[in-house]
Amino acid sequence: MDTYKNIDTVCPYCGSGCVITCTVNTATNRVIEAKGSPEGVNNEGRLCLKGLYGWDYLNDPQILTKRIRHPMMRKGGKGSPLVEVSWQEAIEYTASRLKAIIKEYGPDAVMGAGSARGPGNETAYITQKFMRAVIGTNNVDHCARICHGASVAGLSQSVGEGAMSVSIPEIEDAEVIFNIGYNAPVSHPIVARRVVKAKKKGCKIICVDPRLTEMGRLADIYLPLKGGTNMLLLNAMAHVMVTEDLVDRDFIEKHTTGFEAYAEEIAQDKYAPEAVAAATHLDPDDIRKAARLFASSKHTVTLWGMGITQFSQGVECVIACSNLSLMTGNYGHYATGVGPVRGQNNVQGTCDMGVLPNQYPGYQSVTDETVRRKFEKAWGCALPDKVGLPLTRVPAKVLREPDPKKQIHAYYIIGEDPAQSDPDLPEIRRTLNAIAFVAVQDIFFNKTCEHADVIFPATAWGEHDAVYSSCDRRFQRVRKLIEPQPDCKPDWEILCLLANAMGYPMHYDNTEEIWDEMRSLCPKFTGATYEKMDANHGIQWPCYTEDSDDKGTQYLHDGAQFATADGKGRFYYFPWIPVKEVESPDYPLSLSTVREVGHYSVRTMTGNCRLLVDLADEPGFIQMNPDDCQNLNIADGDLVRVISRRGQTVTRCQVSDRVSQGSTYMTYQWWIGACNELTISALDPKSSTPEYKYCACRVEKIDDQ
Ligand code: SF4
Repeated sequence: MDTYKNIDTVCPYCGSGCVITCTVNTATNRVIEAKGSPEGVNNEGRLCLKGLYGWDYLNDPQILTKRIRHPMMRKGGKGSPLVEVSWQEAIEYTASRLKAIIKEYGPDAVMGAGSARGPGNETAYITQKFMRAVIGTNNVDHCARICHGASVAGLSQSVGEGAMSVSIPEIEDAEVIFNIGYNAPVSHPIVARRVVKAKKKGCKIICVDPRLTEMGRLADIYLPLKGGTNMLLLNAMAHVMVTEDLVDRDFIEKHTTGFEAYAEEIAQDKYAPEAVAAATHLDPDDIRKAARLFASSKHTVTLWGMGITQFSQGVECVIACSNLSLMTGNYGHYATGVGPVRGQNNVQGTCDMGVLPNQYPGYQSVTDETVRRKFEKAWGCALPDKVGLPLTRVPAKVLREPDPKKQIHAYYIIGEDPAQSDPDLPEIRRTLNAIAFVAVQDIFFNKTCEHADVIFPATAWGEHDAVYSSCDRRFQRVRKLIEPQPDCKPDWEILCLLANAMGYPMHYDNTEEIWDEMRSLCPKFTGATYEKMDANHGIQWPCYTEDSDDKGTQYLHDGAQFATADGKGRFYYFPWIPVKEVESPDYPLSLSTVREVGHYSVRTMTGNCRLLVDLADEPGFIQMNPDDCQNLNIADGDLVRVISRRGQTVTRCQVSDRVSQGSTYMTYQWWIGACNELTISALDPKSSTPEYKYCACRVEKIDDQ
């Protein structure tokens, strides 16, 4: 007999942190429906199409790829087929390979990639503990490196805290929204709903984007700048604020340092709007209007996405955004501040849990001896004292490092797919093929599995408990909905099995034990107990005490007390640095990566949801301007070959007058038409974030289609 149960949990897709009520048929062990829960602070009962229909992969319809159901190994070595093995054999083999590599080359020969997706914060905590305490390296990182790494680094330098200062519900009370390089209706539809509500209440919106996005269509001032010129625009806006004396002198004097030196640089004539017009392709009057509007309110919220961070000058542009808020007094009170809106459901949490080469959980530095001693005492082992390797630097450490003692020889990858998501895929494939031992923990066969020596089957969202951090710092409980596939285990349990096999005792009975250990080591998170999360619709960090009255922190920097050593925000000036690869006669178009609203990341989950696949499926598309298409004799829907200096791919043309002449846009989500065959692996020197948003390409029509 069918038995139905409603369970509240958190959406496994973007960082909006929407709470979902899932209806489960316990007799068939299936999720049959999802609705928005009114308990969700950020979503108020609403969901986007991924939240409504994105659970179908749990039913394993095998559309894009198959579920991993058992441990697998290549028993005949590299190139041999994967065969099913027992858990014991897979764990013992992996432990012996890792131990042998550590013995020969040292612990820094091992790299670990954690997951910002379904596994959640407890697995993230265990991931970094495994790499640090068991392997003995700080070589642990995750996909924040390829998206908002620049936001974390830039905001930490500017105001001491690398996260959204404003909360999602506050956005609807902003008086001005400065939106740059971010398209909420596609990447965070529930955040976009707050922007629409704000507009209905009278908020004015400035949108900066080379492509006329949905946010651009909502804007009062739309600035279609030339890709790669963010810094010129931000400096020009600051120039207008400084030279027209639109700045908040009282706020600057009381709460910031470095303004005079910064203002002197910014006041130079080369940053006048008229001087940057040619390079940015913008009307100087529009730049002036945007600067004046930004400075006109004490409730200006700046929102940005990967249109800021995925450039080789990403960190400096994040700081330039923060400068605008500092100089106009737009920090430290309700409905103001900055919003680097984190993409994946738990990318904020995976940073919170220290899956980073330079920080323990709770943003505590690995080079701070007092902090290190605290973790050594808690974990009962010596810990490495030097900063580890960011994951985007793995190819260089494998393919271009001449000293074998300094190379990476083992790569342990949890819930990530670098062979689809990282830039310059031909180079990534060469890298994975050259690494002696690759282990993967995941739920579906992905592109990286083709290079794996061992694969462990993990439980999926819906099959385990966890905590996720939404992009506005809210810890929320995620609940098991159905019984897992019989031979799959939670990611944290797999790592515990491996730790024990390698001689480090690690055991937890449940996720709350892991969470409580983490809280005991992280002052910012100490007060966020499971109990308080349940009682308060989640808890936003920082939350310092377990006192029931301490309900966490809605917005950061209250009273403009910044999280820097002296409590002040810091101004830094940076000149513009052009992108690394520009158009040429052979590659006359620019290429930028974007997203598809109905799909998520590399689509291993949404590509296995029938309704989402019906809405958009392979191959993907390249968006092109009508004049470019006419010149190349390409019609809407034609198959085309897109070629860059690194590789080529086949996709369909989507003719769009939202795209300016000379620019093209592709999503990285498709297996057929993967734009990362083309993208460049140039990195921001400070955050190691790749320049996904700009490289040169050419497009050719495929004639015999
Ligand atoms: Fe899920 Fe994000 Fe959509 Fe909310 S907005 S339902 S969190 S994908």
